[in-house]
Amino acid sequence: MTTEYAARYTNTVLYDDAGQKHLGDFLIHDNGAWSVSNGDEDVRYVIDGSDKLLTRSLQNWHTHLAMQLNARDFSDGFTLDRWLNEAIFPTESRLNPEYVRVGSTAAACELIATGCSFAADMYFYPAITGQVLNDAGIRGLVGGPVSDFALPSHPDAKSALDELDSLLSKQKLSDRIQYAIATHSVYLCSEETLVRASELAEKRNGRLHIHVSETRKEIADCYDKTGKYPVEYLDSIGFFKPGTICAHASWVKKNEIRLLKKHGATAVHCPSSNMKLACGGTLSLPAYTAEGVDVRIGTDGAASSGNGLDILAEARTAALVQRHDHWDATLLPAKDVFQMVTKGSKDWVAWDLDDRRMFPRGRSNNRHLANLVFNGARCLDMWVDGAAVRMNGKTTTLDEKLALQELNTSVESYYDGIE
Ligand SMILES: [Zn+2]
Repeated sequence: MTTEYAARYTNTVLYDDAGQKHLGDFLIHDNGAWSVSNGDEDVRYVIDGSDKLLTRSLQNWHTHLAMQLNARDFSDGFTLDRWLNEAIFPTESRLNPEYVRVGSTAAACELIATGCSFAADMYFYPAITGQVLNDAGIRGLVGGPVSDFALPSHPDAKSALDELDSLLSKQKLSDRIQYAIATHSVYLCSEETLVRASELAEKRNGRLHIHVSETRKEIADCYDKTGKYPVEYLDSIGFFKPGTICAHASWVKKNEIRLLKKHGATAVHCPSSNMKLACGGTLSLPAYTAEGVDVRIGTDGAASSGNGLDILAEARTAALVQRHDHWDATLLPAKDVFQMVTKGSKDWVAWDLDDRRMFPRGRSNNRHLANLVFNGARCLDMWVDGAAVRMNGKTTTLDEKLALQELNTSVESYYDGIE
């Protein structure tokens, strides 16, 4: 019996899950595994890998994908309060499924082009976003937002939860797409809504996703109302379920970090978003590492973060801000931050070693990951479940030109009268 493999890369450089370098000819398997090639296996593609660098694909653990509609110069320079009330909420009040389709399609183009095959999303109309990511051939943990305010897709939190109950109970679109319950935050969700969401997570074995302890105002307001910090408060109402995704998790005490560890939560470091919105602080990695909490990296929405979804650039920012904040140049070396941003990935990316940003490669060809993390490179190929989602610098699953044209056109009506 012969086994067919997705591809053979010849004469190439491959970094495995542990960050170890391998040189030679390699097979990419349909299940995401890799092995050394003998040169005679049945493969669908034979690719000259001499100017390519193979690594696991990147992952973005906190996004609002359809907010590509709000990207670029929109609301730049606003305070968080003005940004929400004058820019985001007025435009989101006119949101509809078509805008979400256009925004998340443009987002999928950007994810793939920047080497990212997974997003943990939180945005309205999750069924649309799930379909877009599925059609794009990549992976998503697609969270439908639940809140008691500013919910353009539903009249109230209960109906948002009912929709998620239905999505979570249905046959999955594919193994690549899972739905999640994205309770916005302690300040936009009542205790009743948070408890109901948590019960739904338990009932459907779904993951929770929440913004937590992003700003000092959030902490002060929560403390005034409940006598507790946000993580303490969420713990006290039994909110956490295993794998709860906590975006930002910046302004936390050590006992809260221990609570996150106890509940098996994932904390998502979003340094660009925190700096752009002048939050005055960001996730403190050494404290999380000391407690062994699972920490990932996210760009946040394109409107609030660095205007895009380039998670490799975000990994660079994470390394920079951690070193800067802690006066410690040894924090997050390229190998470690690259593992953080690719942890658990089953997919592969071939980066362009001919990209000028990847030079010099060092006397023993030892600068690949440092060049990649701190300077970037073009994503040439991406493999997901053995399928070539991108090949030779061109995304195969989406019409990138059309997606950007539609984004441009939609933005005209989406913003109309607001700018
Ligand atoms: Zn966010």
